[in-house]
Amino acid sequence: MNEDGIYQPAWQLPAGVHAFVTTRFGGHSQGAWQTFNLADHVNDDPAAVIANRILLSEHIGKITGSAAPIMQWVQQVHGCTVYTAKNSTFTPSPQADAIYTTCSNLACVILTADCLPVLFCSTDGQEIAVAHAGWRGLCGGVLEATIASFKSQPHQIMAWLGPAIGSCHFEVGDEVRAAFIQAAVPEDEAATHEAFTSAFKPGKWFADLYQIARIRLKTAGINQINGDCNCTFCGDSNFYSHRKKSPTGRFATLIIKTK
Ligand SMILES: [Zn+2]
Repeated sequence: MNEDGIYQPAWQLPAGVHAFVTTRFGGHSQGAWQTFNLADHVNDDPAAVIANRILLSEHIGKITGSAAPIMQWVQQVHGCTVYTAKNSTFTPSPQADAIYTTCSNLACVILTADCLPVLFCSTDGQEIAVAHAGWRGLCGGVLEATIASFKSQPHQIMAWLGPAIGSCHFEVGDEVRAAFIQAAVPEDEAATHEAFTSAFKPGKWFADLYQIARIRLKTAGINQINGDCNCTFCGDSNFYSHRKKSPTGRFATLIIKTK
Protein backbone atom coordinates (compact mmCIF):
# COMPACT_ATOMS: atom_id res chain seq x y z
CA MET A 1 0.00 0.00 0.00
CA ASN A 2 1.25 3.52 -0.69
CA GLU A 3 0.71 6.70 1.35
CA ASP A 4 -2.60 7.38 -0.44
CA GLY A 5 -4.14 4.31 1.19
CA ILE A 6 -4.64 2.61 -2.17
CA TYR A 7 -2.97 -0.55 -3.39
CA GLN A 8 -2.66 -2.47 -6.64
CA PRO A 9 -3.30 -6.20 -6.24
CA ALA A 10 -0.57 -8.68 -7.11
CA TRP A 11 -2.31 -9.78 -10.30
CA GLN A 12 -0.62 -10.03 -13.70
CA LEU A 13 -2.74 -7.90 -16.04
CA PRO A 14 -2.47 -7.16 -19.78
CA ALA A 15 -0.61 -3.96 -20.70
CA GLY A 16 -2.74 -0.88 -20.07
CA VAL A 17 -5.08 -2.50 -17.53
CA HIS A 18 -4.86 -1.48 -13.88
CA ALA A 19 -6.64 -2.72 -10.76
CA PHE A 20 -6.91 -0.89 -7.44
CA VAL A 21 -8.25 -1.48 -3.96
CA THR A 22 -8.72 1.30 -1.42
CA THR A 23 -8.38 0.98 2.35
CA ARG A 24 -9.48 2.97 5.38
CA PHE A 25 -6.44 5.21 5.04
CA GLY A 26 -5.70 8.44 3.25
CA GLY A 27 -9.14 10.10 3.21
CA HIS A 28 -11.18 12.83 4.89
CA SER A 29 -13.97 10.96 6.74
CA GLN A 30 -14.24 11.16 10.52
CA GLY A 31 -15.63 9.00 13.31
CA ALA A 32 -16.97 5.55 12.43
CA TRP A 33 -16.20 6.21 8.74
CA GLN A 34 -12.58 7.22 9.11
CA THR A 35 -10.93 7.94 6.82
CA PHE A 36 -11.47 6.87 3.20
CA ASN A 37 -15.17 6.00 3.00
CA LEU A 38 -16.40 6.19 -0.60
CA ALA A 39 -20.09 5.37 -0.08
CA ASP A 40 -22.77 8.08 -0.09
CA HIS A 41 -25.48 5.91 1.51
CA VAL A 42 -23.96 5.14 4.92
CA ASN A 43 -24.64 8.45 6.75
CA ASP A 44 -21.12 9.80 6.39
CA ASP A 45 -20.64 13.55 5.84
CA PRO A 46 -21.44 14.06 2.11
CA ALA A 47 -18.63 16.60 1.75
CA ALA A 48 -16.10 14.07 3.02
CA VAL A 49 -17.39 11.42 0.58
CA ILE A 50 -17.13 13.84 -2.35
CA ALA A 51 -13.60 14.80 -1.31
CA ASN A 52 -12.64 11.13 -1.00
CA ARG A 53 -14.05 10.33 -4.45
CA ILE A 54 -12.05 13.22 -5.95
CA LEU A 55 -8.91 11.96 -4.20
CA LEU A 56 -9.46 8.47 -5.62
CA SER A 57 -9.98 9.78 -9.14
CA GLU A 58 -6.82 11.92 -8.90
CA HIS A 59 -4.82 8.97 -7.66
CA ILE A 60 -6.04 6.72 -10.48
CA GLY A 61 -5.23 9.46 -12.98
CA LYS A 62 -1.73 9.87 -11.58
CA ILE A 63 -0.89 6.14 -11.63
CA THR A 64 -2.45 5.33 -15.01
CA GLY A 65 -1.49 8.55 -16.80
CA SER A 66 -5.14 9.07 -17.68
CA ALA A 67 -5.87 12.82 -17.29
CA ALA A 68 -9.40 12.68 -15.89
CA PRO A 69 -10.70 9.14 -15.58
CA ILE A 70 -14.48 8.70 -15.51
CA MET A 71 -15.46 6.95 -12.29
CA GLN A 72 -18.50 4.73 -12.87
CA TRP A 73 -20.41 4.27 -9.63
CA VAL A 74 -23.57 2.18 -9.27
CA GLN A 75 -26.31 1.81 -6.68
CA GLN A 76 -25.75 -1.72 -5.49
CA VAL A 77 -28.83 -3.73 -4.54
CA HIS A 78 -27.49 -7.32 -4.15
CA GLY A 79 -28.94 -8.19 -7.55
CA CYS A 80 -27.51 -9.54 -10.79
CA THR A 81 -27.86 -6.59 -13.17
CA VAL A 82 -24.74 -5.73 -15.17
CA TYR A 83 -24.43 -2.11 -16.27
CA THR A 84 -22.55 -1.56 -19.52
CA ALA A 85 -20.68 1.69 -18.99
CA LYS A 86 -20.07 4.08 -21.88
CA ASN A 87 -17.92 7.17 -22.08
CA SER A 88 -20.38 9.46 -20.38
CA THR A 89 -21.39 10.08 -16.82
CA PHE A 90 -24.83 8.91 -15.87
CA THR A 91 -26.64 10.76 -13.09
CA PRO A 92 -28.01 9.43 -10.84
CA SER A 93 -25.83 6.32 -10.88
CA PRO A 94 -27.67 3.29 -12.27
CA GLN A 95 -28.92 0.46 -10.13
CA ALA A 96 -26.66 -2.53 -10.79
CA ASP A 97 -24.29 -4.95 -9.07
CA ALA A 98 -21.74 -5.30 -11.83
CA ILE A 99 -20.18 -2.94 -14.38
CA TYR A 100 -18.75 -3.94 -17.74
CA THR A 101 -16.93 -1.74 -20.23
CA THR A 102 -14.75 -1.70 -23.33
CA CYS A 103 -14.11 2.04 -22.91
CA SER A 104 -10.72 3.41 -21.99
CA ASN A 105 -10.14 5.73 -19.02
CA LEU A 106 -13.37 4.61 -17.39
CA ALA A 107 -13.04 3.02 -13.96
CA CYS A 108 -15.55 0.30 -13.04
CA VAL A 109 -16.01 0.69 -9.28
CA ILE A 110 -17.70 -1.51 -6.69
CA LEU A 111 -18.00 -0.62 -3.00
CA THR A 112 -17.96 -3.26 -0.29
CA ALA A 113 -17.52 -3.90 3.42
CA ASP A 114 -17.54 -7.76 3.68
CA CYS A 115 -19.20 -8.69 0.36
CA LEU A 116 -16.86 -10.14 -2.26
CA PRO A 117 -15.65 -7.80 -5.01
CA VAL A 118 -14.61 -9.66 -8.18
CA LEU A 119 -12.62 -8.07 -11.01
CA PHE A 120 -12.61 -9.41 -14.58
CA CYS A 121 -10.37 -8.75 -17.56
CA SER A 122 -10.13 -10.32 -21.01
CA THR A 123 -6.65 -11.62 -21.81
CA ASP A 124 -6.38 -9.13 -24.70
CA GLY A 125 -7.03 -6.28 -22.25
CA GLN A 126 -9.98 -4.93 -24.25
CA GLU A 127 -12.83 -5.84 -21.90
CA ILE A 128 -13.01 -5.25 -18.16
CA ALA A 129 -15.66 -5.66 -15.46
CA VAL A 130 -16.29 -5.69 -11.74
CA ALA A 131 -18.98 -7.49 -9.76
CA HIS A 132 -20.36 -7.11 -6.24
CA ALA A 133 -20.88 -10.60 -4.89
CA GLY A 134 -22.47 -10.72 -1.48
CA TRP A 135 -24.17 -13.99 -0.75
CA ARG A 136 -27.41 -13.01 -2.51
CA GLY A 137 -25.70 -11.84 -5.69
CA LEU A 138 -23.31 -14.76 -5.73
CA CYS A 139 -26.16 -17.20 -5.23
CA GLY A 140 -28.36 -15.42 -7.79
CA GLY A 141 -25.69 -15.50 -10.49
CA VAL A 142 -24.06 -12.06 -10.63
CA LEU A 143 -20.72 -13.60 -11.63
CA GLU A 144 -22.27 -15.61 -14.47
CA ALA A 145 -24.19 -12.52 -15.65
CA THR A 146 -20.98 -10.52 -15.72
CA ILE A 147 -19.15 -13.20 -17.73
CA ALA A 148 -22.09 -13.28 -20.18
CA SER A 149 -21.49 -9.58 -20.93
CA PHE A 150 -18.08 -10.37 -22.43
CA LYS A 151 -17.53 -10.93 -26.14
CA SER A 152 -14.43 -12.94 -25.19
CA GLN A 153 -14.94 -16.60 -24.43
CA PRO A 154 -14.70 -17.58 -20.73
CA HIS A 155 -11.28 -19.21 -21.22
CA GLN A 156 -10.06 -15.80 -22.41
CA ILE A 157 -11.24 -14.06 -19.24
CA MET A 158 -9.38 -13.85 -15.96
CA ALA A 159 -10.83 -13.02 -12.58
CA TRP A 160 -9.50 -11.67 -9.30
CA LEU A 161 -11.16 -12.08 -5.90
CA GLY A 162 -10.76 -9.06 -3.60
CA PRO A 163 -11.00 -8.52 0.17
CA ALA A 164 -14.19 -9.97 1.70
CA ILE A 165 -15.35 -11.61 4.90
CA GLY A 166 -13.61 -14.97 5.26
CA SER A 167 -15.09 -18.28 6.32
CA CYS A 168 -13.40 -17.57 9.69
CA HIS A 169 -16.15 -14.99 10.35
CA PHE A 170 -18.97 -15.36 7.85
CA GLU A 171 -21.64 -17.11 9.89
CA VAL A 172 -24.91 -17.79 8.09
CA GLY A 173 -28.11 -19.68 8.76
CA ASP A 174 -29.49 -22.88 7.25
CA GLU A 175 -31.49 -20.87 4.71
CA VAL A 176 -28.36 -19.39 3.12
CA ARG A 177 -26.70 -22.79 2.81
CA ALA A 178 -29.89 -24.28 1.40
CA ALA A 179 -30.18 -21.46 -1.17
CA PHE A 180 -26.65 -22.11 -2.47
CA ILE A 181 -27.12 -25.86 -2.63
CA GLN A 182 -30.41 -25.44 -4.44
CA ALA A 183 -28.86 -23.00 -6.91
CA ALA A 184 -25.86 -25.28 -7.61
CA VAL A 185 -25.73 -27.20 -10.88
CA PRO A 186 -25.60 -30.97 -10.19
CA GLU A 187 -21.83 -31.30 -10.72
CA ASP A 188 -21.18 -28.52 -8.18
CA GLU A 189 -23.47 -29.80 -5.43
CA ALA A 190 -20.83 -31.75 -3.49
CA ALA A 191 -18.29 -28.92 -3.70
CA THR A 192 -20.93 -26.41 -2.60
CA HIS A 193 -21.66 -28.54 0.49
CA GLU A 194 -17.95 -28.37 1.31
CA ALA A 195 -18.02 -24.57 1.26
CA PHE A 196 -20.07 -24.67 4.48
CA THR A 197 -18.64 -25.84 7.79
CA SER A 198 -20.55 -26.19 11.01
CA ALA A 199 -20.45 -23.20 13.34
CA PHE A 200 -21.22 -25.60 16.24
CA LYS A 201 -24.54 -23.89 16.87
CA PRO A 202 -27.90 -25.25 15.74
CA GLY A 203 -28.65 -24.14 12.19
CA LYS A 204 -25.48 -22.05 11.86
CA TRP A 205 -22.67 -22.41 9.34
CA PHE A 206 -19.49 -20.71 8.31
CA ALA A 207 -19.71 -19.94 4.61
CA ASP A 208 -16.71 -19.62 2.31
CA LEU A 209 -17.62 -16.98 -0.29
CA TYR A 210 -14.22 -17.40 -1.96
CA GLN A 211 -14.68 -21.12 -2.43
CA ILE A 212 -18.19 -20.67 -3.79
CA ALA A 213 -17.01 -17.93 -6.16
CA ARG A 214 -14.23 -20.23 -7.44
CA ILE A 215 -16.72 -23.06 -7.99
CA ARG A 216 -19.08 -20.75 -9.90
CA LEU A 217 -16.30 -19.18 -11.98
CA LYS A 218 -14.78 -22.55 -12.91
CA THR A 219 -18.14 -23.96 -13.93
CA ALA A 220 -18.68 -20.84 -16.07
CA GLY A 221 -15.44 -21.70 -17.86
CA ILE A 222 -12.98 -19.36 -16.17
CA ASN A 223 -9.67 -21.05 -15.37
CA GLN A 224 -7.55 -18.05 -14.52
CA ILE A 225 -8.74 -17.17 -11.02
CA ASN A 226 -6.50 -15.04 -8.82
CA GLY A 227 -6.72 -13.53 -5.34
CA ASP A 228 -6.82 -15.34 -2.03
CA CYS A 229 -8.94 -14.89 1.05
CA ASN A 230 -8.24 -11.51 2.65
CA CYS A 231 -10.78 -11.36 5.48
CA THR A 232 -12.25 -7.90 6.02
CA PHE A 233 -13.49 -8.82 9.51
CA CYS A 234 -10.01 -9.97 10.63
CA GLY A 235 -8.48 -7.04 8.75
CA ASP A 236 -10.85 -4.30 9.84
CA SER A 237 -7.95 -2.02 10.74
CA ASN A 238 -7.28 -1.84 6.98
CA PHE A 239 -10.74 -2.39 5.49
CA TYR A 240 -14.32 -1.65 6.42
CA SER A 241 -16.27 -4.60 7.83
CA HIS A 242 -20.01 -4.18 8.23
CA ARG A 243 -20.23 -7.29 10.40
CA LYS A 244 -17.44 -6.16 12.69
CA LYS A 245 -18.85 -2.70 13.35
CA SER A 246 -21.82 -0.76 12.01
CA PRO A 247 -22.21 1.98 10.89
CA THR A 248 -19.06 1.89 8.86
CA GLY A 249 -17.75 2.99 5.48
CA ARG A 250 -17.17 1.18 2.19
CA PHE A 251 -13.90 0.67 0.33
CA ALA A 252 -13.56 0.47 -3.44
CA THR A 253 -12.32 -2.27 -5.74
CA LEU A 254 -11.92 -1.08 -9.32
CA ILE A 255 -10.47 -1.79 -12.72
CA ILE A 256 -9.57 0.60 -15.55
CA LYS A 257 -7.87 0.32 -18.94
CA THR A 258 -5.97 3.09 -20.67
CA LYS A 259 -5.54 1.60 -24.17
ZN1 LIG B 1 -11.96 -13.44 9.55
